[in-house]
Amino acid sequence: MTFSELGVSPLILRALDEAGYTEPTQVQAEAIPAALAGEDLLVSAQTGSGKTAAFLLPSLVKLAQRSAASGKGPRVLVLTPTRELAQQVEKNATEYGTHLRWLRTVCLVGGASFGYQVRAMARPVDIMVATPGRLMDHMRQGRVDFSRLEVLVLDEADRMLDMGFIEDIETIVRATPESRQTLMFSATLDGVVGKLAAKLTRNARRVEIARAESGGNIEEHLLYADNTAHKDRLLDHVLREAGFDQAVIFTATKIGAEELADKLSDQGFSAACLHGDMPQNWRNRTLNDLRRGRIKVLVATDVAARGIDVPTIDLVVNYDLPKQAEDYVHRIGRTGRAGRDGVAITLSETKEFHRVRRIEQYLKRRITEGVIEGLEPTRRPQKSGNGQRRNGNGGNNGQRRQHGQGNSGYGGPRKSGSGSGSGYNKRAPRQQSAG
Ligand code: AMP
Repeated sequence: MTFSELGVSPLILRALDEAGYTEPTQVQAEAIPAALAGEDLLVSAQTGSGKTAAFLLPSLVKLAQRSAASGKGPRVLVLTPTRELAQQVEKNATEYGTHLRWLRTVCLVGGASFGYQVRAMARPVDIMVATPGRLMDHMRQGRVDFSRLEVLVLDEADRMLDMGFIEDIETIVRATPESRQTLMFSATLDGVVGKLAAKLTRNARRVEIARAESGGNIEEHLLYADNTAHKDRLLDHVLREAGFDQAVIFTATKIGAEELADKLSDQGFSAACLHGDMPQNWRNRTLNDLRRGRIKVLVATDVAARGIDVPTIDLVVNYDLPKQAEDYVHRIGRTGRAGRDGVAITLSETKEFHRVRRIEQYLKRRITEGVIEGLEPTRRPQKSGNGQRRNGNGGNNGQRRQHGQGNSGYGGPRKSGSGSGSGYNKRAPRQQSAG
């Protein structure tokens, strides 16, 4: 299957070729033809699946036909939960539309200049990418005209609902024409997301992209710690031994992110933090520094990290467990981008075992548990509800495990004979035997 066979037009094909996209991803292959046929879509796809192009490409093909309606308002509106994601989507739109010289995009996010956004809307806009809050600010001032709107995209709808944007979304949607096409993307389609979808879409075609087994090319490990000090020692070991290019470390709180980034800087890592209380220009600068390789370790909170798309990130560490199971998928999706390999390590205090179980229930699989010799937890996690012991290692401690049936310890090969390219995977057995 090629992009051309999916109905993508030549000028866009040229841009895709330049971007190095040789063939569509699964979500693109399923969503693009249906969107081009005018259908509403309800798509469950994870970050990293190529979902952005799945809604932008058909939107761009549509935009190439002139609008019969007069006015300056956007013809395509993309709503995203966070500023970073909005900026990323706008960047992708300009990249895919680089040969459509007439194309105009605008990004309406908080923390950026209001005046600049107002001026940008004074001329006709093709694609508007916005977070609900800032868009509502402009709408209240009567600055947004949706009379020409043809396509409404809700990206990461589940996340927008989690962040309390439901009323804003409903108000925004009411301001758009009934005739619009609605494309809704979400990690899950159940519960409140499903209810919202039923309200906003018409005969929507459901596209469900199976949750990639272990995030595809991402090698995952789980390390238990007795307490925070133990977690710090594990993190230190991981950062010193993993041999990575760039890492993102997730913390539960903004203050936690700042403190950890400071600590890592003191230890000699080029580290920085990223969280939602930082001024937007500072956040942008940090992301640019990350992209340019000036930052090796980024310590981030969940919200700020959405939309980070830096292919050289090859390590994600969950220093604190995510509050919501879905966030686990988003977090580890910061690595293994665009078909590359990545490693994701989750640190958990033993007493937080039940939270790990919740994540595993959501994933419908276990995360491979490991140990680092000399840094084993003194206590074992509780038995799981169904009486199974994790990894079949039961009450053995890390030492005895080495004499066991070759079950995977920390960093051991997850897929036998997979030949994973992450230097990390290869180093681990040496650590285990070296003592
Ligand atoms: P997304 O899931 O939209 O965040 O995309 C994940 C990453 O995959 C981004 O870096 C995209 O640029 C890249 N990507 C999307 N579609 C393709 C494709 N068909 N071929 C290669 N890379 C792609």
